[in-house]
Amino acid sequence: MTVCMECQEINGFPNFESVQATIVPDNGAMHISCNKGHTTLHVLTQPKHELLSELSICAIKDGYYREGVVSFASALESLYRFYVKVILLTNGVDSKEFEKSWSAINLSERQFGAFSIAYLIETGVAYKNLPADQVKFRNKVVHNGQIPSLDEAIQYCQSAATCALPIIKQLESDKYIKTKTDIISSISASARNKAESIGMRISAGGILTPLSLRPGQSEINIANYLEEHKNWNVENVVAEIATHATALNSLLTPETRD
Ligand SMILES: [Zn+2]
Repeated sequence: MTVCMECQEINGFPNFESVQATIVPDNGAMHISCNKGHTTLHVLTQPKHELLSELSICAIKDGYYREGVVSFASALESLYRFYVKVILLTNGVDSKEFEKSWSAINLSERQFGAFSIAYLIETGVAYKNLPADQVKFRNKVVHNGQIPSLDEAIQYCQSAATCALPIIKQLESDKYIKTKTDIISSISASARNKAESIGMRISAGGILTPLSLRPGQSEINIANYLEEHKNWNVENVVAEIATHATALNSLLTPETRD
C-alpha cells in the first residue's frame, strides 16, 4: 500500500486519498499514480525471498494453500541464492562472474549443494536443512500437484522459516550488511535510472514480511503472522483511510487543500 510522496511534499502532510494497493513487480520497483496526477517510482528495498514469503502468506490467507507452499519453497530457494551471492561478493567476486557460475548450475539440487558448502565455509557448521518429511511433502506439492490442508501449509512454511532464520541473521551482521544493501539496490537500478532520466520522483521503503526480521526478533512464528495478517484486509484499510481522508480534507482551509 502506498501514499503519494509528492502530495506530501507539496502539502506538508499525507494525501490520504492517494492511498492505494499496488501489485509488486519482479524487480520491486512500482509505478504509482496518485489522484492528483503525480507519478512516483516506489522501490522496495528488500530481497526477493522476503517478497516471496509475503506472497505465500497472502495466498494461504486467501485459501490457496498449495500456492502458499510453492511460494515459501521459492522463498527459501531464493534465499539460498541470495546468501551465496552475498558471501561471494563480500569476498571480492564480481557480480557478473557469480551470475555466470550460478546459471551454470541451474538445477535446484546443485544450487542447494553450492549453498550448503558456502554456508559451511562461512560458519564452520553444517546447514540444518528441512526435516526429511517436509522435503517429501514439498516435492509432492510442487511436483505432483498435491493440494495441502491449511495445517500442512502452515507447518511447511514454519519449517522453512525456521531453516531461513540463521541465514537471515547472518546476512544482517556487520560483515555482510553493506554487500546485502548493494545487491538489493542493483536489482531495481535500471528502473530507477530510467525514472531519473525522465525526472520522475523516486521513493523507497520496505514492507513487513515473514522473513523480514524486526529489531530484537529471535524467532519466526508463521501461525501468529498469519493471524496478524488476517486483520490487514487491503480493501478495509483503504476504505477506512478514505473515510478519515474525507473528514480530514473537510477540516483543511481552501488554501491548504489544493
Ligand atoms: Zn500526489
